[in-house]
Amino acid sequence: MRCAVISDIHGNLDALEAVLADAGEVDQVWCLGDVVGYGPQPNECIDVLRARDALCVAGNHDRACTGAMDTAEFNPEASEAALWTRGQLTPEHQAYLKHLPEVLTAGASSEFTIVHGSPREPVWEYLTHVSAARLNFEYFQTPYCLVGHTHVPLIFQKPLPDERPPNYRTIVPAEDVPFPLEAHRLIINPGSVGQPRDGNPAAAYMLYASAGSGGRPTLTLRRVTYPVAAIQQKMREAGLPARLITRLTYGW
Ligand code: ZN
Repeated sequence: MRCAVISDIHGNLDALEAVLADAGEVDQVWCLGDVVGYGPQPNECIDVLRARDALCVAGNHDRACTGAMDTAEFNPEASEAALWTRGQLTPEHQAYLKHLPEVLTAGASSEFTIVHGSPREPVWEYLTHVSAARLNFEYFQTPYCLVGHTHVPLIFQKPLPDERPPNYRTIVPAEDVPFPLEAHRLIINPGSVGQPRDGNPAAAYMLYASAGSGGRPTLTLRRVTYPVAAIQQKMREAGLPARLITRLTYGW
């Protein structure tokens, strides 16, 4: 089984298409939420996911852009973009976003829990530090959990019961190097397709292979360049906030 693990597309169709082209033939697309918000093509991104029959969970922007959640916790630009998106979404796509679940299970042997933020607070919590991540291992039953929301590729590793010292580790995944899924429990973030925030403007996602290196399961981080200027032009034409446009140049 080979799957594309994508997150935080944020209405960026150019980045989404580039990532799916890079992934090639896959059995499934797993999407960790925030399909819309920020970007200029929310309807088109939902169409792509529906055509692929993607497994998808809800992100905070998906909720805000349907009006299911207010935008009080958003910064002014995010709020403005959410209201713009709400006005663009077709009724069918509103319904698609409204019905997204908060938690899913996936994988060749159902070894992944899939959420947007964290297993403890699926839509809202940011897992940026090991202090929060370690508590979250108690909130899912599968060996591995896939999260998005921070827009930064990262892996948290729980120590094995007999490991000394019993330290939790934070691992920055290396591009194109298959990461083996073995005995350690992991929380894994593939980064963001449509609005990377780790200083690299290339779209980020991961490829899951149930029989990767040596027949063992692996996840591999991929970075894909795409026409950033093209989406920025569409954002200008849509009148989206300037800061959201310029940040795509830098990946912040
Ligand atoms: Zn997001």
